[in-house]
Amino acid sequence: MEKSNRAQRWSLVGMTALVTGGTKGIGHAIVEELAELGAVVHTCSRNEAELNKCLQKWADMDLLVTGSVCDVSSRAERERLMERVRSIFHGKLTILINNAGTGIVKPTLDCTAEDYSYLMATNLESSFHLSQMAHPLLKASGRGSIVFISSIAGLVAVKNLSIYSATKGALNQLTKSLACEWANDNIRTNCVVPGPIATPLIQVVLEDEEIKAKEVLRVPLGRIGEPEEVASLTAFLCMPVACYINGQVICVDGGRAIYDS
Ligand code: NDP
Repeated sequence: MEKSNRAQRWSLVGMTALVTGGTKGIGHAIVEELAELGAVVHTCSRNEAELNKCLQKWADMDLLVTGSVCDVSSRAERERLMERVRSIFHGKLTILINNAGTGIVKPTLDCTAEDYSYLMATNLESSFHLSQMAHPLLKASGRGSIVFISSIAGLVAVKNLSIYSATKGALNQLTKSLACEWANDNIRTNCVVPGPIATPLIQVVLEDEEIKAKEVLRVPLGRIGEPEEVASLTAFLCMPVACYINGQVICVDGGRAIYDS
């Protein structure tokens, strides 16, 4: 294979991307990874001040990133976000990363109807609806790629996370449905499944030495992962070099989900 051809296959140059929840943690690392590999990226979050701070940082790094304030749990705000994306990328989107998500740690019997609706809307409905709306834009690009950011809690039972786990298990299955339904439109769909990753979402675990040590014991590699370690797989799945990978649910978890600890 020619050298220049290989360089193109391992690159995101010429691609456009929407990454939800890009101001912190895993989403933030994904925005930087995609942009550094050559994609033009749009991201969103709810906090305008934090979003603007990130956009300034990325501009200083010469990365091509724009952003919108959007609460992905709101249908109307999702519609506004996709309209903006359609407009700035002239109707063509190569990459959709459904990353924004959150959790509520509670025994099932203490969960309220509001907890249920909030997690379903934020983690599952947002990803489903954004994918639906992105479909014509991804199809128009001729080489679309969707990546859902799920969780090992969608594969194995994690204590006090029943609603969260249900949302993530549903994303794992949605991956397979879209992978088959939209393959003819040249849209590949895959799912990245992080184990424990050092982000603000798991601050409680990171700050409590005892809880953290227990979690680390469940990971064969013996440590909590870094957001960049999730971002690298996510970016790879969007590259031309991954063009035969479709419908896969892949863990980045140091071996946590396959370990009978
Ligand atoms: P963080 O809480 O650290 O960051 C979440 C990001 O998403 C922030 O930018 C946040 O900004 C944004 N966000 C959250 N809710 C919304 C919303 N309703 N609308 C728009 N933006 C939103 O989370 P992580 O980086 O840890 O998690 C990212 C994904 O990875 C999630 O789907 C999570 O379930 C998954 N994951 C994380 C693991 C971990 O150990 N960290 C393990 C397994 C999966 P703002 O709050 O300003 O809106």
